[in-house]
Amino acid sequence: MREQWLARASAPLPVSWLVRLSRERLYRPMYHTVRGDEPLPHVEHLYPTLPRTRFERDLDALLRHFDPVALDDVPDWLEGRRGGRPGFFLTFDDGLREVLDVALPLLRAKGVPATVFVNSAFVDNRALFFRYLASVLVDHVAHQPPNTVTEQAVMSCLGSAPGVDLRQALLGVPYAQRSSLDRAAELLGFDTSAFLDRQRPYLSVEQLKQMRADGISIGAHSIDHPLYRDITLDEQLRQTQESCAFVRATFGQSACTFAFPFSDVGVSSTFVERVAEERIADRLFGGQGFRSEGSELMIQRHAIEGRAGEMEGLIRADHVLALLRRGLGKYRVSRPNATVEPC
Ligand SMILES: [Zn+2]
Repeated sequence: MREQWLARASAPLPVSWLVRLSRERLYRPMYHTVRGDEPLPHVEHLYPTLPRTRFERDLDALLRHFDPVALDDVPDWLEGRRGGRPGFFLTFDDGLREVLDVALPLLRAKGVPATVFVNSAFVDNRALFFRYLASVLVDHVAHQPPNTVTEQAVMSCLGSAPGVDLRQALLGVPYAQRSSLDRAAELLGFDTSAFLDRQRPYLSVEQLKQMRADGISIGAHSIDHPLYRDITLDEQLRQTQESCAFVRATFGQSACTFAFPFSDVGVSSTFVERVAEERIADRLFGGQGFRSEGSELMIQRHAIEGRAGEMEGLIRADHVLALLRRGLGKYRVSRPNATVEPC
């Protein structure tokens, strides 16, 4: 609502003026997937997916105002070493198959590079992210409702609070309790391995390798997608180090770019410093929109899915917000000094 208002309020100004006023040189939209003709039950109950036609309109809007930028050129654009039009840098989190099947033909046709961030435990469909399992179980019970006895057993295994329904209970399971979703799947007669074989939600190593010829670069997104502020500093470092080691070894690259799973909000400055000192990753991507912080390692991006309105309005809103944040002294990301260790 607020950003739609910002987009409307800025409508008399051309986008190029807004971008210049904001002093931003690189717009960084982030996606997960693009919906083609297949249903996506593992995603559909988490956030609204954008159809192919909408993604194509997004690309056209981006190309009207910005030049496409590849991962290796991001530092040059951020540091203002490129003249001419501002740039945009596109990313996809989670390594989902529709990036190849639906998005890539459009990216290729329009000459737009992108970066895909993968979870090392999920590539090749070896396992399913716990939130995707929750979504697919919601879909499963909608088509095959359990009897009362089974539903009570599932609710008890999920440890759900009173007054919560089965859908809310499934979608409310946090990373620390993710094994309860595996037990719920068993009780509900849902075969996760068969789903992985049938749906093939993730890209394979071979597909990712081939996509690099089409301007797609690969980065890491943790091992199995925990919310970083909920895990210990040691576990944050392990998840980052091991997923980067996987990307380096699998794709034969010396650099590793990392995107935080869920969010970087609440992650300590100690984590960012340790990643820099120990050269665990070469870049860290968050999702807090136009903001900056002390470390050059950190770059923030703009979530696109789940926001109301077309890309033109989102570009306007994000650049007006950058202006407001700078004006109000809220542009800089503030981080706790140390991770608050979960009890
Ligand atoms: Zn993710």
